[in-house]
Amino acid sequence: DPRIEGIASTIRVVPDFPKPGIMFQDITTLLLDPKAFKNTVDLFVERYTGKDITVVAGIEARGFIFGPPIALAIGAKFVPLRKPRKLPGEVISEEYVLEYGTDCLQMHIGAVQPGDRALVVDDLIATGGTLCAAIKLLERAGAEVVECACVIELPELKGRERLNGKPLYILVESG
Ligand code: 5GP
Repeated sequence: DPRIEGIASTIRVVPDFPKPGIMFQDITTLLLDPKAFKNTVDLFVERYTGKDITVVAGIEARGFIFGPPIALAIGAKFVPLRKPRKLPGEVISEEYVLEYGTDCLQMHIGAVQPGDRALVVDDLIATGGTLCAAIKLLERAGAEVVECACVIELPELKGRERLNGKPLYILVESG
């Protein structure tokens, strides 16, 4: 798709952020380009329209940027998957392992029900640990995870292999 190249060209790579040796993929520069931002959302909307998706689950924080416009366009509810102690209601939690230490995602109980068909949205997949935790949360709530969607994949890290066989759709490969 000719739109992909335009999107890729707006992503800024910031060396040594947030620590030495990391080449950070910065999507805030994509958001500064209204055409690239719209094309990004449109590509996902085109893929997921008519697929009977009932819930778009966005991962904090950048999944909150791309998830809601997709949810609105396909007529699905939006559910935020948040870092610990941010959600005010009763939650279920999934811990996941990072390079150093662990992190956790939480989801409100009752936001997702058995029979829901879920799309998980984030900006980027690296090791896949975050998406793996998101899939577990949704499945514990009884949802079927139809697909995960990210703007960027770092294929060298093989995060795709940690998604328990769930399909992953990405627009741009990097690294
Ligand atoms: P993973 O769990 O797949 O190793 O890491 C993915 C998570 O970390 C995503 O939530 C993503 O937003 C964040 N992340 C890791 N590296 C980068 C990066 O280079 N750029 C951006 N924008 N996010 C990153």
